[in-house]
Amino acid sequence: MKLLFSLLVPLLGVMCTPARSADSTPQTAPSEYVSTLVGTQSEYLLSTGNTYPAVALPWGMNFWTPQTGKMGDGWAYTYNAHTLRGLKQTHQPSPWINDYGQFSLMPVCGLECFDEESRQSWFSHQAEEARPYYYSVYLADHDVLAEVTPTERAAIMRFTFPETDEAGVVIDAFDCGSMLRLVDRNTVVGYTTRNSGGVPDNFRNWFVVRFDHEVGAIEMTDRPSKFKAGKQLLKPEAEKQVEGDHAVMKLHFKTRHGEQIVARVASSFISEEQALRNLEELGNDDFEQVKTKAQKRWDEVLGRVEVRGGTLDERRTFYSCLYRSTLFPRKFYELDTEGRPIHYSPYNGRVEQGYMYTDTGFWDTFRALFPLLNLVYPSVNREIQQGLANTYRESGFLPEWASPGHRGCMVGNNSASVVSDAILKGITPEQEIGILYEAMLSGRDKVHPTVSSTGREGFKYYNELGYVPCNVGINENAARTLEYAYDDWCIAQVAGKLGRKEDAARLMKASENYKNLFDPETRLMRGRKSNGEFQTPFSPYKWGDAFTEGNAWHYTWSVFHSPEGLAELMGGKEEFGRMLDSVFVVPPVYDDSYYGFRIHEITEMQVANMGNYAHGNQPAQHMIYLYNYCGQPWKAQWWTREVMRRLYSVRPDGYCGDEDNGQTSAWYVFSALGFYPVCPASDEYALGSPLFDEAQIHLENGQTIRIEARNNSDENRYIGSMTFDGEPWQKTLIRYSDLVRGADLCFEMQSEPDLTLREAR
Ligand code: CA
Repeated sequence: MKLLFSLLVPLLGVMCTPARSADSTPQTAPSEYVSTLVGTQSEYLLSTGNTYPAVALPWGMNFWTPQTGKMGDGWAYTYNAHTLRGLKQTHQPSPWINDYGQFSLMPVCGLECFDEESRQSWFSHQAEEARPYYYSVYLADHDVLAEVTPTERAAIMRFTFPETDEAGVVIDAFDCGSMLRLVDRNTVVGYTTRNSGGVPDNFRNWFVVRFDHEVGAIEMTDRPSKFKAGKQLLKPEAEKQVEGDHAVMKLHFKTRHGEQIVARVASSFISEEQALRNLEELGNDDFEQVKTKAQKRWDEVLGRVEVRGGTLDERRTFYSCLYRSTLFPRKFYELDTEGRPIHYSPYNGRVEQGYMYTDTGFWDTFRALFPLLNLVYPSVNREIQQGLANTYRESGFLPEWASPGHRGCMVGNNSASVVSDAILKGITPEQEIGILYEAMLSGRDKVHPTVSSTGREGFKYYNELGYVPCNVGINENAARTLEYAYDDWCIAQVAGKLGRKEDAARLMKASENYKNLFDPETRLMRGRKSNGEFQTPFSPYKWGDAFTEGNAWHYTWSVFHSPEGLAELMGGKEEFGRMLDSVFVVPPVYDDSYYGFRIHEITEMQVANMGNYAHGNQPAQHMIYLYNYCGQPWKAQWWTREVMRRLYSVRPDGYCGDEDNGQTSAWYVFSALGFYPVCPASDEYALGSPLFDEAQIHLENGQTIRIEARNNSDENRYIGSMTFDGEPWQKTLIRYSDLVRGADLCFEMQSEPDLTLREAR
């Protein structure tokens, strides 16, 4: 991927350029706008993101996070916590899925400091610096400054100690089977097997830690809770190893005031030898050099989108969201001695050739995250698609939720959307299209033997009746049906492109299956029994049951591929618009009897004060943009700005629900740019309301998309008129294929809605 521009070169076009305040000049590197703490003020009962401050490179194999929670707690770092237990290598995509292959390092002062309780230290956000490429924190109880900066598979840590004979670094390989071995006076190797499922029996994360100081003494145990620290110091002359349930090793040093101990760390899912190879990513660079390179890499990635204007908080929110959009799915491949990609297969336990990415749930990320990759970072998705072909080769299925292997979570068969969109946009390598098409087709007619959310649960009913009935013991059946119908539409588009006419016709017919669940009486989607009767009793406020983490008000709109068809069922565009309005108007009441308790997503809907609109979860996230399909685009313009303003910020509580691996962030990125992919695998984006005075998207093909919004402000959120490459544009949809040729969009913003009827296309 080549660097296409320098951040310091002014890139402003000459057409319709408004005056700007000094405040909006782009002197700040994009990475400096990012707060990695957004979304960390979360808890089990209420998610404001459920994120952690990931220190990593974009899509890097390993992330690092300060750890406040106890070992095994999915809430690894919470903003309201007072103490840290270590700097943890993590691969966790979500607290609900939890972590795998994790281990930690913790610098300490004091002979008694050892296990995760005795070694923890108070810290303050005032003495913490949290950036994508760098994290530092002052550990008050040890008087140590701890710093970390990453490469893709390695990291370098720097610990600044006081004058003491009791300095130490604890390496915690976590429980459930781990090992640590002192190889020489500077080097420890080890492995952790800790995981949360989705791995073969031989799963290990091998790691190496190399210090720039010789260790004076060591302590080690495989039962840290029973261990009396400071009593059994061992001389480090010979090789020493501990292997068991929970290996922990403490390395002792004597330090002068301000003395820095540097640890170089790398890991591998393949082998100890490969971990040593991955350590070479650091080369001979010192801490500052690694940090500088990491920041440069972030600025390359984040700088693909430049924005001007808006408030400082809006720019910070935007780049913090772009950071979250470029972390997952993460690399799960490594490079062999020849520099070729290889990977430990989380599906068959063997080392295989080629790419592999993981840690994403397509139920969430098919919607906006993958479309964002396809527009701005297609070379990354090209590798991801090769990885998906490998997943099919190694497991017989495309993943739906992977971390690192197949995980039972959510519904749908939305790998079809992710795979189709990439094929249709020319991103997938030619030689992989055949196998990926086969993978999509075969996934329609089977279900994974042990992970029922992989493949299509209920496919026999769906194929026979055109829906998954509500009375055959398959939960969330209406959600499954609606998503399968859209997924069929996606595969049909690829069939059309490949000239498979019979497949295309069959799949297009199946894509109309959403009609089978439409209840004309309530004008909502509804569960249906195998005899054709609708499910009773029915409450449009009931979460779960026929739906997934949502109710009929939310899921009725899951007809991404045919809003017009849905409008027809509802009785026309007027009625469609009224039904959309109703979502915001009806009170935030709910029925949680399916779950037996109020799930956090329900609470997040309630507290937002937007009626039954539930932006904190994914099923509703395209809904506002549907106003473009019923001739009321001004309502999309008003509501997208309202959601950006009220439900996103750069604060630690800056999301309105689970961020979910880039999806909720990618919504903001697209919305701030002024358009959104309502139907991935189509060529279209629906218009919203551009947030910034100007945005430039620097595409990998060398072209630029320039978006200007004149007279823009919070009040002037409505589009008055618009030009596309200088020509008046009357439609409310724009095309990907037009944008990627390089495009100049110029909006005139105004305070009153333009009520003249605009056609979608
Ligand atoms: Ca969610």
